[in-house]
Amino acid sequence: MKTTYDIDIAVVGGGASGLAAAAAAGRDSGGRATIALFDAQPRCGKKLLATGNGRCNLTNRSAKPDCYHTDDKHALNRVFSCVNVDDTLSFFENLGLVCREEDEGRIYPSCGQASAVLDLLRLELERLHIPEVCGCRVESIRRTAEGFSMNSPLGVIKAKSVIVACGGKAAPNLGGVDWGYDLLGSLGHSVTRLNPALCPIPVESPHLSSLKGIRAHARASIRDERGEIYSDSGEVQFGEKALSGIVIFQLSSAAANLRGDGMWVELDMLPERDGDGLTAMLKRRRTLLPHLTLENYLTGVFNKRVGMCLLKQAGMAPLSRSVAELSDGDIRRVAAVIKGWRFPVSGRAQWNSAQVTSGGVRLSEFDGLTMQSRLCKGLYAAGEVLNVDGFCGGYNLQWAWSSGILAGRSAAAK
Ligand SMILES: Cc1cc2nc3c(=O)[nH]c(=O)nc-3n(C[C@H](O)[C@H](O)[C@H](O)COP(=O)(O)OP(=O)(O)OC[C@H]3O[C@@H](n4cnc5c(N)ncnc54)[C@H](O)[C@@H]3O)c2cc1C
Repeated sequence: MKTTYDIDIAVVGGGASGLAAAAAAGRDSGGRATIALFDAQPRCGKKLLATGNGRCNLTNRSAKPDCYHTDDKHALNRVFSCVNVDDTLSFFENLGLVCREEDEGRIYPSCGQASAVLDLLRLELERLHIPEVCGCRVESIRRTAEGFSMNSPLGVIKAKSVIVACGGKAAPNLGGVDWGYDLLGSLGHSVTRLNPALCPIPVESPHLSSLKGIRAHARASIRDERGEIYSDSGEVQFGEKALSGIVIFQLSSAAANLRGDGMWVELDMLPERDGDGLTAMLKRRRTLLPHLTLENYLTGVFNKRVGMCLLKQAGMAPLSRSVAELSDGDIRRVAAVIKGWRFPVSGRAQWNSAQVTSGGVRLSEFDGLTMQSRLCKGLYAAGEVLNVDGFCGGYNLQWAWSSGILAGRSAAAK
């Protein structure tokens, strides 16, 4: 096979982390290093364009190591000590991006377009004379005396240093693949178990079909027989066979490794009231509304369909009965369901609907001050291919930027 590239730094993967790595390497080398970026897709940044519903929630003001799952918190701390949120914002400001902070510290481009983030990164590569070689999947990688030799459909790529930024398995429809794990695995790295994360949780309930599309505020927790695994408050969205919404995404990540039989999602549909306060409120409604049928007993508290399902779940059917017929025991049962509506987890989450991969190549095998492999000198990694996944809300892109910029700078310094 002919050698098509013989360069100093090869960046494998043209997503968020690879583009940031190539730009950082180009800037820091001041034009002294030859750099090229290779991507399997016909165009770079396909997933980036879909982020934040097309608006790109590119970081979060509160991004810090506690907001991530990883095998090596110490290394993660080091990465963020080298490139934090402010450093990332000035990196983008220097590219010409103006950002705006919204609720809960989420930061977006002011223009509201993910495409602006991609365009500015690509324009920077153009300015730095870094070619984007698309439609070029790196199929294998081998250590040589001079550096690395990689096979691709376009020929052999030789490079003194390689930055692997191949992303993870999440969202295969947007280019998510598991190739990066194999490339790093072939150079001696180990991969943890991989699970879809930040995704809807499949659950079973006879009520889901009538609730489809409804959103409600709740405190949601994921549990098994040993107790609560994780909980959070926010908007839950009911789907036909799954629960969704940002709060459910957070639960899916926290429980990604544990997902299996015997888990359930529990919704507290009125977290602002304790059990006694709720029981008192329900009794007051019985006194106030004795002329209604049960169908409307919870109308005005919850979405009507949610209210009816809560009553059915508490065993109150038929709902044609009068509110006046409710006993104190009935009210206690209704209150118990409102405070802890159970949805048994019915199966594994799907890669197609996941935003990130939980698990990946062990971060502990990389130096958190440089992103260089501890096993193979000259090899760097960045982004989702590593075992780091964060909360929903700009945290995962922040990881891609921090690790990508650091890997690029370190490779250039070398
Ligand atoms: C729908 C959706 C919305 C999201 N929204 C947000 C959000 O608003 N905020 C946030 O923080 N996170 C968000 N995320 C998560 C975020 O997009 C990812 O964490 C981030 O894109 C990971 O960047 P990456 O560079 O590691 O991987 P990717 O962006 O997946 O890029 C990897 C690239 O590597 C290429 N590649 C892989 N293997 C090879 C190979 N062997 N040879 C050549 N090329 C290869 C792929 O083609 C791909 O272009 C979202 C994810 C999804 C799916």
